[in-house]
Amino acid sequence: MTATTLATTTPAELTRADRCDSCGAQAYVRATIHTADGLSLLFCGHHFRDHELALLTSGATIHDERRRIDDEVSAPER
Ligand SMILES: [Zn+2]
Repeated sequence: MTATTLATTTPAELTRADRCDSCGAQAYVRATIHTADGLSLLFCGHHFRDHELALLTSGATIHDERRRIDDEVSAPER
């Protein structure tokens, strides 16, 4: 098992530098919309819930790290 066997389709993990596009809070979900531009949107837990249905119905690929919200002691979600 080596790092070089990682699939290229494995999305990069979100970091503290990734911020929600709607409110600027730490992002826990990345939605990749398969347009010609390969648009990626970042969401905090709150705003992902607001847009989840639309994203899923549009066929976006969802990278969800919301499980980490409970693991981290950080600023409250807004
Ligand atoms: Zn947000």
